[in-house]
Amino acid sequence: MVVDMGKRILLLGAPGAGKGTQSKRLAETYDIDHVTTGDALRANKDMETEYGTPRSFMEKGELVPDAVVNEIVEAALEDADGYVLDGYPRNLSQAEYLSEIADLDAVLSLEVAESELVERLTGRRVCSECGTNFHVKFNQPEEAGVCDECGGELIQRDDDTEETVRERLSVFEENTEPVIEHYRDEGVLVEIDGEQTPDEVFDDIVDSLDDA
Ligand code: ADP
Ligand code: ADP
Ligand code: ZN
Repeated sequence: MVVDMGKRILLLGAPGAGKGTQSKRLAETYDIDHVTTGDALRANKDMETEYGTPRSFMEKGELVPDAVVNEIVEAALEDADGYVLDGYPRNLSQAEYLSEIADLDAVLSLEVAESELVERLTGRRVCSECGTNFHVKFNQPEEAGVCDECGGELIQRDDDTEETVRERLSVFEENTEPVIEHYRDEGVLVEIDGEQTPDEVFDDIVDSLDDA
């Protein structure tokens, strides 16, 4: 008997590239888990670790220490039959760790220009109940401030202010661009044009997964 394993997908891209938006759709379409370090850390912001709380790093737009994040990811992947991993790895040492604990079926990168990223992040609004993403211009809810999915209140993340966004983008360039380069050098990276509509981006992702 052939056991039908869930797909194991890595979705890379800058802050604001659309990883959360696309991961949610992928998880529903392929019936796999959405593993996202950002959401996991936000749910445990005040957890005491030997390095301090996640909040103390996230507020400044800095990376939370690898040891904290690696542990979260390992536990989540162990439990999953198929997943889309979003927000990890963010530096080469995390990428090295991931290669020891996971076998990936696909590595995708959403490509979006920096000027567009700033506008997407500063206009992002997130449901305080279910985490669904909206945007004040590009992806408006039916009723301002209210989640279409669950009726929850839409809020702006603390780190989606212009100043912290700039810091996150520079952390991305310095730490995470080399991760994308690494997968490109390995010949496994599929680049997706992330500046299309969410539906078009999703179609391109699905096409690339079906080819894989
Ligand atoms: P975005 O989706 O806008 O890129 P995330 O929700 O993924 O933002 O991440 C928010 C913050 O959480 C990051 O700025 C960082 O402080 C922390 N974080 C998330 N994932 C990681 C990771 N893999 N390594 C270190 N820090 C992380
Ligand atoms: P990431 O998880 O990579 O940080 P998100 O999925 O949260 O990115 O998207 C960032 C913001 O941009 C959100 O407000 C989202 O609604 C919006 N967005 C996502 N995809 C697109 C797109 N293709 N075009 C325009 N805006 C988008
Ligand atoms: Zn909601």
